[in-house]
Amino acid sequence: MSKEVKPDGVSLRPVGAQTEEATSEQKPLCIFGTGDLGRSLGRRLLQMDYKVVYGSRRPHNCGSLPQGAQVLSYADAAQLASLVFVCLHREHYGFMETLGSQLEGKVLVDVSNNPEKNLYPEANAAYLQKLLPGCRVVKGFNTLSAWALQNGPSDANRQVYLCGNSTEAKQAIAEVATKMGFTVVDKGSLSAAKDLEDVPLQLFPEWRLPLRIALGLTAFFFFYVLIRDVIYAYVDQGKDISFRIMVSLANKVFPIVSLVMLSLCYLPGVIAAFLQLYRGTKYRRFPDWLDRWMLCRKQLGLLALAFAFLHVLYTLIIPIRYYVRFKISASTVTQIRENQTSKFDTTMAWRSDSYYSVGMLGFGFYVLLGITSLPSVSNALSWREFSFVQSKLGHLTLLLCTLHTYLYGWDKFLRPSTYKWYTPAGYMLGLVVPTTVLALKLLLLLPCVDRNITRIRRGWERPATDEEKTLLM
Ligand code: NAP
Repeated sequence: MSKEVKPDGVSLRPVGAQTEEATSEQKPLCIFGTGDLGRSLGRRLLQMDYKVVYGSRRPHNCGSLPQGAQVLSYADAAQLASLVFVCLHREHYGFMETLGSQLEGKVLVDVSNNPEKNLYPEANAAYLQKLLPGCRVVKGFNTLSAWALQNGPSDANRQVYLCGNSTEAKQAIAEVATKMGFTVVDKGSLSAAKDLEDVPLQLFPEWRLPLRIALGLTAFFFFYVLIRDVIYAYVDQGKDISFRIMVSLANKVFPIVSLVMLSLCYLPGVIAAFLQLYRGTKYRRFPDWLDRWMLCRKQLGLLALAFAFLHVLYTLIIPIRYYVRFKISASTVTQIRENQTSKFDTTMAWRSDSYYSVGMLGFGFYVLLGITSLPSVSNALSWREFSFVQSKLGHLTLLLCTLHTYLYGWDKFLRPSTYKWYTPAGYMLGLVVPTTVLALKLLLLLPCVDRNITRIRRGWERPATDEEKTLLM
């Protein structure tokens, strides 16, 4: 587990030869390399009133450096400081082996990243430690860009991750990072360096599965409604209604995907509860697929909310659509011509008002769920408040949105004409998962089942049967 380093009271004492604090505090911090990261880091350190000395291959010819910084050869710069930021690419580390005596006992901060995963057998920081066994290598700052370092944490990521085998060395670097305004997260020993070096190579890892599910569902339901609506009308009646793809079809697919994805947020919780009931214990690990599914519920929910937003936007523009305005005026003209008015249908009025009202309530709760998943809001809630909103109000949202869809279908469920080519409408298919989740949840709420699951979650375990005892032996 990550823990925050408390750098209070730790000074930048030279490591190895522990000289007097007063002298050591005046020691400059050394930066190896005058490239992009070296320059940004140097600028920031100078702003924090540290003295900075650069090590460079060409100390007299390395371009303009931040004002106030000194620049020397690598060997001379290494001698002056007790803490060295190695702002070089790994493939250029080799020459540092020759600086063994100048770097002996010093703290080296490896800030490097690789262009791709598993390029080298060991982490860059571990390689640096192997090259210079007399130094204390700490991996850190690699998850920040040069831009973020220069602008400081107000404009970018606030966290600096560190790992290394020497606690004192990590504390010294934590002190510098904290002074620069960053929050330090200690990831443990140097063996965590490989994971840290992989962090900048990740591209939304926790969003990958939810995005794939969203894309898969969207593609499936789009082609499903395209075949049932547009292609069916063309084949069966020779009518070209392909213009409906842009708004009508899109506005059919978005709510279906939103509802299915919302129910997929709550399905793993229900499966987990039944698994615990079946096993009679909460102390056995869930299968990996269920763990992964549970971990991406927030992303599934946020994507579901995005689809619900699209549904709302597409619904709002219905009255200004050319097709809708044309149909309304055509029907009005027909009624005038035939000197007829259609009768007010109270049942239809109830149905449509209930449909809109339940939909709007559902969307309101949906937005609330989205807001409470924001770290700044969830951090302000107690665990009980958070779980009340996400679980109780979440299931209520699912219930309202499912009801909204049933009201949309109304009596169409029983009309044979709904089942074109013997297939149910898209929204009917979309109701399968949410209805199943709600039915299973209802089962879990039955007092006899609820009592058992509560006991198990408080730590009670069903005594093992003779057969299970034999298996365990
Ligand atoms: P860079 O602009 O290419 O600078 C690298 C520096 O290495 C050069 O300026 C050079 O400085 C020095 N060097 C020493 N021996 C060298 C050699 N044989 N050939 C070429 N250069 C040599 O790279 P950078 O962007 O500052 O990145 C430095 C390290 O920080 C890399 O490991 C990178 O993965 C890591 N990093 C960078 C960023 C970023 O935003 N740039 C973010 C996180 C981590 P002298 O000419 O003065 O010797």
